[in-house]
Amino acid sequence: MYDVIIIGAGPAGMTAAVYSARQKLKALVLTDNIGGQTLWSTEIRNYTGYNLISGFELTEKFKKHVKEYGVELKEDEPALDLEIDRDGFIVRTKKEKYQTKTIIVCTGKKSRMLGVGGEERFRGKGVTYCSTCDGPLFAGKDVAIIGGGNSALNAALQMIEIASKVYLIDANAELGGEAVAREKVKTSPKVEHIGSAIVERINGSEFVASISITAGGKKRKIDVQGIIIEIGYTPSVEFAQILAKNKDNEIIINNKSETNIPGIFAAGDCTDVFGKQIIVAAGEGAKASIAAFKYVSMKR
Ligand SMILES: Cc1cc2nc3c(=O)[nH]c(=O)nc-3n(C[C@H](O)[C@H](O)[C@H](O)COP(=O)(O)OP(=O)(O)OC[C@H]3O[C@@H](n4cnc5c(N)ncnc54)[C@H](O)[C@@H]3O)c2cc1C
Repeated sequence: MYDVIIIGAGPAGMTAAVYSARQKLKALVLTDNIGGQTLWSTEIRNYTGYNLISGFELTEKFKKHVKEYGVELKEDEPALDLEIDRDGFIVRTKKEKYQTKTIIVCTGKKSRMLGVGGEERFRGKGVTYCSTCDGPLFAGKDVAIIGGGNSALNAALQMIEIASKVYLIDANAELGGEAVAREKVKTSPKVEHIGSAIVERINGSEFVASISITAGGKKRKIDVQGIIIEIGYTPSVEFAQILAKNKDNEIIINNKSETNIPGIFAAGDCTDVFGKQIIVAAGEGAKASIAAFKYVSMKR
């Protein structure tokens, strides 16, 4: 019987693990991988204390910190199901069933992928899913933004300030999103909106060099150095059927990291918390662990 099982080992889960160990909770981390979305970020410039650090380096530092506290960590062991038990909860994986008094869900989110040739190969080499994080890498360059909703419009507004030319490539004929942002984007001389477009593939040798699309029935190859894919995110919460979610499928939590099930807490990008960033996820992981400690202490 564990005091706490932390599901996920991104910034939220790793911070929850450190806090749980320091509070002397018997903790287990079950995760698919170590690092989560942080691994996708080539340059992190907004994690306090580090002017510049790669996602890989920051993940190594998180891992070292957790290991120094001797927290039990099982990689490649994703949670498949959560059950309420007489004494707490059961977390099922493909290998085992684990019993615990509390759970902290920190499973983050994954970007929706386009699913075209070249996308995987050029991820981090010109293909990104986060304009806030990686947009500055394309200063003075030509970029394509894929999508036509609010995320794509926000990315376009950011890139208008940074890039030399912005192609906004959208499956729908007309742009969606909020009217004010849409008008700003549409009237910018830097933006070319290409509606009714299907992305065929992403091309290049070492880095992205162009994107092939079909628009209005015509094939077109556009030279770009950056491709920002903004077609939405999906929280990784398939296993957490018993937890209440909002319309975006994010786990609903209150300001004490509590979910609808007493004893199950959640933190980071898989929740409805505002501000999907590393430092926010880490802070939320800390909060959830403090809340779990309080819950376990009350039950003793
Ligand atoms: C390309 C990119 C660049 C970014 N750059 C920055 C940046 O520069 N600065 C910044 O602040 N933020 C950046 N972000 C956002 C930041 O990475 C996220 O906000 C942060 O990683 C969220 O942390 P998290 O722990 O909540 O979730 P995640 O990082 O998504 O981690 C989730 C963890 O859960 C695990 N998991 C998933 N499903 C299961 C399951 N069923 N069972 C067990 N484990 C599971 C995963 O393997 C992973 O370990 C970037 C995001 C992207 C996509």
